[in-house]
Amino acid sequence: MDLHFDDRFVRELPADPRTDARRRQVLGACHSAVMPTPVAAPRLLACTRDLAAELGIPPEVQDGDDFAAVMGGNQLWPGMRPYAACYGGHQFGNWAGQLGDGRAITLGELVTPSGARAELQLKGAGPTPYSRQGDGRAVLRSSLREYACSEAMHHLGVPTTRALSLVATGEDVVRDMLYDGHPAAEPGAVVCRVAPTFLRFGNYEIFTSRGDRDTLRTLLDHTIRHHFTQLAPDLGAPGPDAYAAWYREVCERTATMVVGWMRVGFVHGVMNTDNMSVLGLTIDYGPYGWIDDFDPNWTPNTTDAGTRRYRFGQQPQVAAWNLAQLGRAILPVVPGDPAAAGAALEAGLDAYVAAFERQQAAMMAAKLGLGQLRDGDDPRGDVALVDDLLALLAAVPTDMTIFYRLLARVPTEAPIDDRALLEHVRPAYYDAIDGRVTSPAGDPGRMVAWLRRWIARVSEDGVPDAVRRARMDAVNPKYVLRNYLAQLAIDDATKGDLGTLDALMDTLRRPYDEQPDRERFFGKRPDWARNRVGCSMLSCSS
Ligand code: AMP
Ligand code: MG
Repeated sequence: MDLHFDDRFVRELPADPRTDARRRQVLGACHSAVMPTPVAAPRLLACTRDLAAELGIPPEVQDGDDFAAVMGGNQLWPGMRPYAACYGGHQFGNWAGQLGDGRAITLGELVTPSGARAELQLKGAGPTPYSRQGDGRAVLRSSLREYACSEAMHHLGVPTTRALSLVATGEDVVRDMLYDGHPAAEPGAVVCRVAPTFLRFGNYEIFTSRGDRDTLRTLLDHTIRHHFTQLAPDLGAPGPDAYAAWYREVCERTATMVVGWMRVGFVHGVMNTDNMSVLGLTIDYGPYGWIDDFDPNWTPNTTDAGTRRYRFGQQPQVAAWNLAQLGRAILPVVPGDPAAAGAALEAGLDAYVAAFERQQAAMMAAKLGLGQLRDGDDPRGDVALVDDLLALLAAVPTDMTIFYRLLARVPTEAPIDDRALLEHVRPAYYDAIDGRVTSPAGDPGRMVAWLRRWIARVSEDGVPDAVRRARMDAVNPKYVLRNYLAQLAIDDATKGDLGTLDALMDTLRRPYDEQPDRERFFGKRPDWARNRVGCSMLSCSS
């Protein structure tokens, strides 16, 4: 096999002079050399074949013992120079100091057959200088969740890091899952994730927090030269306006990512600045969750239950706050007097707001099958149509994914009576939840009235039902990684049965297609899953 690794990140950026894994503050360096700690019995649980092919890893290698050994951290391929990256971050709004790759180890940067770069990074590969109190390991349940969700998001068309493999380690890991004083041994696993780079906002913040402008500038130049090539022609040094232009680009990419989350009902759960990719990729799948009944106030993260900082509906605002932290971090190296530099960065944040609003409007129009939203201030206009729907969905527990799929099937070309109209969307409603009125029978008039407005509006566009349905289906997924489905796959995988994971992954490769033999993955969250740990409540313990 002929895989070409190029250690560009390691070669071009300042290294930690020490090479042991003793926990420490690492100053003036972007990375520390560290080897994965071998595991007892690496066993391949899942491999993403199409990604492996893209990377140039042939099928016979994917099926060989070496593959599990490399992806479990027991072996290296020639040219790999493993390292852990140094970064800091704001966690839940507070500066947390040095964090770094505490259990992630990049094996190397692969040059793919098409000439692209792909960082192969193991998560759960053992301690690094950045492990703090942690053991550097990851449990099967969280690794499977990261593996499955990365790929689900990719096929949904939401920017994300990818996942190449899931390897069982054959070792136990001890976790206190609910932080309630009941540590227990759980099976361990390692995910190999893939991205052009895993650089986060926190990689830049750490140097500013230490007054280390030189390293900050070196890292920024590296980032722009290799990952934002349009801003640095001919691989030369970025020009004077490059930093502000880069920041603006990060802002716009972040807007696209968050609009993608809002479209499919994804809640990241831990939007700390160390979990924000400068490429605008969804990164670090931890206590994330998927919206079942549409509730903008929902957060899957038990650690966030108090303030709900990272709740579904607040993600656009939190992204802006995180971007402001990134802007503050690069301010000291933006050329010009501080006022001008500040204004240049302010323009980047404005670009975030503009990009978000524009894309959010286009996204909602597409979800409703409209060409575009019209009549911004008209109370009977499209903006009101959208706002009223979101209020309705939140008032009466309604499954978000199912609702939009059913809406696409409401006939608009022939007269329909109220009862028949309501029957079309009825399957999206949950039974009683916490005393809230549930079935549309609770207040059928409001939904019927809204559906009638929608029918009138789409009729104006004059698009045939069948055509509009196909367009709506292309943005409203039928299959998402519902929280309880991930848990079922975990339960079975823990018992040694990978059938559910395989079937789920296969289904999620075509999330917008009807798959009649996979209707079971379209179902509403069952009652047993509503308050079950792992299904609606997740801790950061992973
Ligand atoms: P997260 O909440 O997953 O974004 O992690 C925050 C920080 O904690 C990162 O620096 C991680 O590398 C580190 N971390 C999380 N879990 C562990 C662990 N089991 N061992 C070492 N470091 C960890
Ligand atoms: Mg993280």
